[in-house]
Amino acid sequence: KSGFVSIIGRPNVGKSTFLNRVIGQKIAIMSDKPQTTRNKIQGVYTENDSQIIFIDTPGIHKPKHKLGDFMMKVAQNTLKEVDLVLFMINAVEGYGRGDEFIIERLKETKTPVFLVVNKIDEVHPDELFPLIDHYKSLFPFKQIIPISALQGNNVGTLLDLIKEFL
Ligand code: GDP
Ligand code: MG
Repeated sequence: KSGFVSIIGRPNVGKSTFLNRVIGQKIAIMSDKPQTTRNKIQGVYTENDSQIIFIDTPGIHKPKHKLGDFMMKVAQNTLKEVDLVLFMINAVEGYGRGDEFIIERLKETKTPVFLVVNKIDEVHPDELFPLIDHYKSLFPFKQIIPISALQGNNVGTLLDLIKEFL
């Protein structure tokens, strides 16, 4: 099994933390390099007969100027090209306006999307249900997986679900 997966979500939801845990080395540094828009591979996860290639989608946020507009088109094309999108949210902060914009972009593509609810180590499990119900009402996610990228809870399960899906 192999395929291309993109992780999107508002700043600080834990995308880099997740990637660092999965890939096992500090690769998010790549995002700081100027050529990052061309060099879209953030990391490759390889195990036995499966390979997941994580692709960066810089600039999924409301464009403020012309360059932002161009970046959005690049990001939108990336979303169409990958096999799966992981939309990561923050269980502590909950629903935010940035999410609304991302969900609109997701609706413009046919690519399947998993909802990844991160930072579950910081909330009571009861708080997760209303949050998940709210997101479910906004988009038909193929899977919904609560994780802690920091502590590792459910990260293995998420990887298994991705591999199954590809
Ligand atoms: P990004 O902007 O989406 O790449 O987010 P980062 O990976 O840089 O994480 C932002 C902050 O959230 C950092 O301080 C992380 O240590 C913290 N963080 C990430 N994942 C978790 C998690 O599962 N639990 C908790 N408690 N903090 C997390
Ligand atoms: Mg980051």
